[in-house]
Amino acid sequence: MTDTRFPLPPGSTIGILGGGQLGRMLALAAARLGLDVVILTPDEGSPASRVSRQTLVAPYDDPDALARLAGMADVVTYEFENVPAATVQALNALGAPTAPGRQALAVAQDRVDEKAFLNAAGAPTVAFAPVAGAADIAAALPRIGLPALLKTRREGYDGKGQIWVRGADEAADALASIGGVPAILEAQAKFHRELSIIAARGRDGQIACYPLSENVHEGGVLRTTFAPAAASPALQAEAERIAGEVLRRLDYVGVMGIELFDLGDGTLLVNEIAPRVHNTGHWTQDGCEVDQFEQHIRAVAGWPLGDTTPAVSVEMTNLLGDESLDWADLARDPAARLHLYGKGEPRPGRKMGHVNRVRALAPEQIAASSRRPAPARLVAHEVWDPEVRPETD
Ligand code: AMP
Repeated sequence: MTDTRFPLPPGSTIGILGGGQLGRMLALAAARLGLDVVILTPDEGSPASRVSRQTLVAPYDDPDALARLAGMADVVTYEFENVPAATVQALNALGAPTAPGRQALAVAQDRVDEKAFLNAAGAPTVAFAPVAGAADIAAALPRIGLPALLKTRREGYDGKGQIWVRGADEAADALASIGGVPAILEAQAKFHRELSIIAARGRDGQIACYPLSENVHEGGVLRTTFAPAAASPALQAEAERIAGEVLRRLDYVGVMGIELFDLGDGTLLVNEIAPRVHNTGHWTQDGCEVDQFEQHIRAVAGWPLGDTTPAVSVEMTNLLGDESLDWADLARDPAARLHLYGKGEPRPGRKMGHVNRVRALAPEQIAASSRRPAPARLVAHEVWDPEVRPETD
């Protein structure tokens, strides 16, 4: 059934849950399209609120703030995946549509549900086992192998809440070190490199994928992205196959970041999915005609998706902590496009901004690069129901 509220005309209002740098860059993209933004965040003076029409400073479960947001916004989206499910339900009950929807949030908030969903969707992952106690680790190790990576099921990010287990005798200490909370034990991915694909799905089912990017992490935090990655058409096609399955089965609307392990033999394993714009997609701001932020706004507003063909190759480097103090030198460099987030204090490791350094595409990158949005595929497929969990062990 067509939702007659969409496409939202210019002058409409997009609500964003979260006030960080992703919300800020979404708000800037929305402004370019003539759309207003209202932010809901518990933090005063957030990066996103500095560039948005209005900010509600309140906890995400504050009923008055949610009622005000629902009254103002024509659609509500989010810039982080740990939005409480109750917030989305409350907004929907108040008549405000949210995108992406609850299926995507449910799978992205729980690493076990996420991997079970991915495998059911034909997206391979490492072997894994749910862990409720230390005995589960010992029981799973013969199948998972050593070393194995123990991660909290919920709320881990940037490598936090994870520890390598090198023997069954380490199980109890490892679990205690991540807080004794419900966890997942993962097999070690013997990857050759880390890639990601940024993909979008519109309200009409249209899908658009950017070229793969290659990502280098340090201490669990993204340091640099190179895009387009050196990848064969077959590898790009496999990433797009995975993205298409995931987006369609979640009945997804918006941009998603999919982190991949490249095993070097043509196999891509999904590490995780982020139901939002993604740090490894920041290169698109200076690399593509329509960047991931505009693409997300287009999708949630029901507009046609934009062209994701790269015009240049980009090296994106995060500015962490006091690296952002080099802004004057960076501003002098003609090849560096500087993006700063308006954050006050450059605490160690804090993402303060990023730099995109652009270069002409190599001839083989041009040949492989045209990727206009694909029209909706009129194939019936099952939409994932977060209430029905497949067996995971
Ligand atoms: P995550 O928080 O799950 O994104 O993990 C952060 C980083 O840890 C990834 O970017 C990888 O470098 C590494 N990592 C995560 N899971 C695995 C795994 N199963 N095997 C090997 N490395 C991993």
